[in-house]
Amino acid sequence: MSRSNAATTAKKKKRVIGAWPRALKRIITWRRAAQAGIGLGLTLALSGEMISLGWIIVAGSALGIVLGKFFCRWMCPLGFIMELVMDAGGEANKSSMMYQYFKIGCPIAWISGFLNKHSLLKVKMDPKDCVSCGKCDKVCYIAVHDEGSSLYRAGLANASAHYSCSRCLKCVSACPTGALSLSPHPDTKTNV
Ligand code: SF4
Ligand code: SF4
Repeated sequence: MSRSNAATTAKKKKRVIGAWPRALKRIITWRRAAQAGIGLGLTLALSGEMISLGWIIVAGSALGIVLGKFFCRWMCPLGFIMELVMDAGGEANKSSMMYQYFKIGCPIAWISGFLNKHSLLKVKMDPKDCVSCGKCDKVCYIAVHDEGSSLYRAGLANASAHYSCSRCLKCVSACPTGALSLSPHPDTKTNV
């Protein structure tokens, strides 16, 4: 093996996923369980009149200031059911249905969609860890259907700032190096 190949191999072996991206990957595996539990809780609270729909709309939208369209994929009972329906349509259809559905949604989705661009936490890429494998864009319905958006390509808009991003965090989950995470830091990548 040449010296440069050996150096590259050593560099690859040394790459360790950071603590936050690693923790985030674990949290993401619980997304659907969290959505089912919180969604059921909200449905029961609504039907028992312990909480009003107006309050849920205000709280879900306010959450958008920090996390963007987070409510739709982590808390919403209707979003949970819609995802099951979209799952039944197969992977190819699911991607385009997601892109359309999360554009429409409900009042919480409308407000938090506008907040996606300005939310405190967005999916950001750390260029020092990115190996340009493209796995993030392949699993993201925004990057698949909007050629102007990407999670790693320089010069394109950040897919997580797109109105339709529902904070599913599949992109973070798919990244093999931990280059993507939810971060408050200004973009280190050239897109916005
Ligand atoms: S969280 Fe990531 S994968 Fe999911 S829609 Fe947003 S940018 Fe795409
Ligand atoms: S999946 Fe991670 S390493 Fe691969 S292109 Fe995306 S950000 Fe870069």
